[in-house]
Amino acid sequence: MASEVDNLISDFSRFYILTILYEKPAHGYSIISKFRKRLEREISPSLVYPFLKQLEQKGLVKHTVKPVGEKERKVFELTEEGRELCTKLFKRFANLISVAIEPSLEICAHCGCKVYEGGYHEAIDGKETTFCCKHCAAAYKQEKNLVGKTLR
Ligand SMILES: [Zn+2]
Repeated sequence: MASEVDNLISDFSRFYILTILYEKPAHGYSIISKFRKRLEREISPSLVYPFLKQLEQKGLVKHTVKPVGEKERKVFELTEEGRELCTKLFKRFANLISVAIEPSLEICAHCGCKVYEGGYHEAIDGKETTFCCKHCAAAYKQEKNLVGKTLR
């Protein structure tokens, strides 16, 4: 149970690191200090640096070496692809919060947009899945290589 909470917190921390990078390019230390200042909580460099490295390996982040004070530091910035991913993530996150506040709301499993009423529902992999329209359902199934059954 404790580790589930830890996972949740580190997922949130990663999410927050992305929001910092989305604002502007930053070096590792400035990410850590912004994180601490804004959230008033500690973040371990052993979470930040490996995460930046993973993002870089996936082509979502790139770095340049720049002089900061007397030292040279790696300044990280989101690539075009990284920015696109963030835009999607933020939209999805904002919509998830709307759903929590407004329970009648659902979000499209494919594009992440809000589905107020109706929408399009399919049983996919035995699970009822909500989409805004059947085109999103088709794209979702194609991406995940799944088949579904129309519900309503
Ligand atoms: Zn959709």
